[in-house]
Amino acid sequence: MFEITVGNGFSLCTAFLLLVCAALGIYDFWRENAHDWELSEERLGHCPACRLRFIVARHERVVRCPNCNELCSRANR
Ligand SMILES: [Zn+2]
Repeated sequence: MFEITVGNGFSLCTAFLLLVCAALGIYDFWRENAHDWELSEERLGHCPACRLRFIVARHERVVRCPNCNELCSRANR
């Protein structure tokens, strides 16, 4: 039957890691490009420093004020 040698196992492990990296790359590309702006699903951000309200994309995790570059809270729905 099929026998796993050291060299064979190393090749399998490398191929598996390459597959995982490719999948993560594809996922990251999809996450960056597949999300277009849909105003009904975006949220409002509010800057406590300069009191600016602005639209935040729903997949943004860290929100910075476009006016003063301060870290801001994101208002929940
Ligand atoms: Zn601000």
